[in-house]
Amino acid sequence: MRVNINNIIISLNKDQDKEILKEIERKGIKRENIKSIIWNKRSIDSRKKNDIKLIYNIEVVLNKDIKIDSKQNINIVKEKIKVNRVPIYKNKPIAIIGAGPAGLFAALRLAEFGYIPHVFERGEEVDKRDKTTENFILTSVLNPESNIQFGEGGAGTYSDGKLNTRIKSEYIEKVFDEFISCGAQKEILWDYKPHIGTDVLKIVVKNLREKIKSLGGKFYFNSKLNNIIIKNDFIVGLEIIDANLNKTTYDFDSIILATGHSARDTYRMLNKNGVYMKNKPFAIGARIEHPRVDIDKMQYGNCACNELLGAATYSVTYNNREEERGVFSFCMCPGGEIVNASSEVSTSLVNGMSYSTRDGKFSNSAIVVGIKENEFGDELFSGMKFQEQLEAKTFEIINNYGALYQSVTDFMRNKKTEHEIESSYKMKKYSYNLHEFFPDVISKNMQSAFEYWSKNPLFISKNANLIAPETRTSAPVKILRDIKGMSVNIKGLYPVGEGAGYAGGIVSAAVDGLKIVDLSFTNTIE
Ligand code: FAD
Repeated sequence: MRVNINNIIISLNKDQDKEILKEIERKGIKRENIKSIIWNKRSIDSRKKNDIKLIYNIEVVLNKDIKIDSKQNINIVKEKIKVNRVPIYKNKPIAIIGAGPAGLFAALRLAEFGYIPHVFERGEEVDKRDKTTENFILTSVLNPESNIQFGEGGAGTYSDGKLNTRIKSEYIEKVFDEFISCGAQKEILWDYKPHIGTDVLKIVVKNLREKIKSLGGKFYFNSKLNNIIIKNDFIVGLEIIDANLNKTTYDFDSIILATGHSARDTYRMLNKNGVYMKNKPFAIGARIEHPRVDIDKMQYGNCACNELLGAATYSVTYNNREEERGVFSFCMCPGGEIVNASSEVSTSLVNGMSYSTRDGKFSNSAIVVGIKENEFGDELFSGMKFQEQLEAKTFEIINNYGALYQSVTDFMRNKKTEHEIESSYKMKKYSYNLHEFFPDVISKNMQSAFEYWSKNPLFISKNANLIAPETRTSAPVKILRDIKGMSVNIKGLYPVGEGAGYAGGIVSAAVDGLKIVDLSFTNTIE
């Protein structure tokens, strides 16, 4: 028998295990009946900085069935109803384009059902990609096929590895279980803001690849999808181009397209082939970076160094009601680094990542302004072109790969920063007045948001700097698909994950990959 006890609130300075045990006993469960205790979730209540509390939801596994006192708010855990699925075809080869979370989890699911997933990835396998990316930071020589966005593991490989998601799905548990079985920390199961860190993610990605291969999957690196071959609205094959520009065609009648939000050449190729898609909203802005100690203090006061708390996260929002537009923090990286996330020659942009320990000197997050569907024109790709223009303009201003910077206080005074700044960003930094860089819709809304947040002196402070631009928060287009995940007009093409416009983040992309395989390649049985 297993029971859930939720909302156990314990002061930070108390012995957590002892207090949890006491709370279970207070609920009428005897110690000798407890077999094990599983944390389902642990969150932090830091509203009162001098009395921070940890809140636990737990599952208690009992060694025998006992009578539960109905007044004690204890829920007996019901066994989950398992849906049994069988593959529609046996040993069928399926092409998967992209080895990010969506592609890898689709490949895993297919392989588990006995399909033969062939994963084509434009970038390098993760170890080589790592060297190429390091080389880019040192030499400013970009490999447009293998970088922070492209390569094994996808965009999230160089990330904080945050696993928060707003979606609710039966597949989330599988994603977490697979991450753990491939080397991720067990804490991700109960931490209210679970994260893996780029160092551990690289190991997870490699192990996931090996698992898929052991189930019969095949991987092709440095192999970019250059074209899809369509006959009478059905996919019949694909053309792959390798690092030496050799082209090879393969016969496939099913392609799972998991190419992420940065493969603009692939979007354009799909459009040429008549695949239906439309513009969608996204967001643009800049990274804000503070000394980590400031953010920890802002969130945890004098408890900032308590090891149970770790580096602090935050989230801020501002709503411009008149314009129906939000300004919000995104992809917060406590103790992390700002990185150059370019994937196209002569363009520059930033993003954030962190290591599993989150113990860097700075904490950063993106402060982004919502951009509406057709804000920059009705034609397809108008938003994507706007992203491209900002990225090219950045490169042009700096005359190299790098980032623009401005202190937050100077931004609020509409004046260029005259001093150099200390930052985690390792490439060239160039001082620029961001009011003159962004169109008004972005700079004015950022200005209003900073004014609104200025009641918080540790957030809007002389220690806070902006590093810009952050352009790739999500896909600027959506590839239209039916309820089973197939393109609405090209049969056999399954757009999944963030690039297709159906996910935003590592977990939701992975879930989308799993879900579409179940919906389109399996049947349920009683
Ligand atoms: P991607 O991960 O983008 O994978 C797409 C893959 O397809 C890439 O490997 C690419 O090389 C490949 N590809 C593209 N075109 C082709 C082609 N034509 N042929 C063959 N292969 C192709 N999300 C979080 O949830 N938490 C975080 O902490 C987080 N931090 C991030 C930090 C950074 C620096 C970045 C860039 C992103 C971060 N994200 C984070 C976002 C997250 O990485 C994405 O939401 C997620 O990776 C999307 O998964 P995906 O599989 O849909 O696409």
